[in-house]
Amino acid sequence: MRALHREHERPLSQLRWRIAAATPAKDVNYRHAFHAGNFADVVKHVTLVGILLHLRKKEKPFRVIDTHAGRGRYDIANDEALRTGEAVEGIARLRDFAPDAAMPSALSTYLKIVRDEGEAQYPGSPLIIARLLRKQDHLVALERHPDEAALLDKILVGFPDTKSACADGYARLASLLPPPERRGLVLIDPPYEAKDEFTRVAEAVAIVRKRFATGIVLIWYPIKSPAPSDAFAGEILSGGTQEILRITIDVGGDPSRLAAAGLLVINPPFGLADEMQGALAVLAPLLGRKGCADFVVEAL
Ligand code: SAM
Repeated sequence: MRALHREHERPLSQLRWRIAAATPAKDVNYRHAFHAGNFADVVKHVTLVGILLHLRKKEKPFRVIDTHAGRGRYDIANDEALRTGEAVEGIARLRDFAPDAAMPSALSTYLKIVRDEGEAQYPGSPLIIARLLRKQDHLVALERHPDEAALLDKILVGFPDTKSACADGYARLASLLPPPERRGLVLIDPPYEAKDEFTRVAEAVAIVRKRFATGIVLIWYPIKSPAPSDAFAGEILSGGTQEILRITIDVGGDPSRLAAAGLLVINPPFGLADEMQGALAVLAPLLGRKGCADFVVEAL
């Protein structure tokens, strides 16, 4: 496997281009800075790394489209993060946990990437992806909030095979598909503030299925109660998706706070289920708010 890319390792001669900023309204209230590094981020990002490691197994290039990218790097020692304490109950519990060769590679690679950021910083999805791209691979990262998008733009500057845009991820998606490489991942990780967000995600999946049927899709969603989450998975399945891996985690504790989250992986890579089963067996005792967290990895 190639070494992880670092910003300073990029040849200066490689110029990157950026999609010109659109003019989106400042109508997104959600700020991931309050939640970065929480239990849900940990599980989502380990899964993301598992998929990327699979894509790296073949020399053929791949492309990742991150429709809701966020700012790329989060200060988890600042007021926003400390006010919620979510990182304290998430990534902070793994800080003394050294990556080792016996761990599932998705988990050890994730831990290495996080450790490289230092104690006070946590990498968001576009930075994790950028770190795992090889010279033949590409990332397109979309973020609708102008302030977050501006921060993301700065973070990705050192990674020439990446493009970022201040844009609506749902609106831009169709124009990016199929990717020229015909191989890759679409990550859909919205804030679920809007009532119709599940519907919009299902519509986005339908677009991917139509234009890039072989692409891997990773969807994150909150689980506030089981019925709507099951209905969501049912909606995705009824759209004709053949193969879905569902990963859920429930950390328990105070029911007024988000305690459970799910991931759907469409066209899951071979071996990802076992990899995540192994990773979650390690993570569940660390992430539970009262004892061990519950988790399920299942093919739908
Ligand atoms: N994927 C990121 C990660 O794992 O580090 C976290 C993303 S956060 C859950 C959701 C992000 O989507 C927020 O930064 C929010 O500003 C952005 N957002 C909300 N609506 C959007 C839209 N329609 N298109 C693109 N980004 C959007």
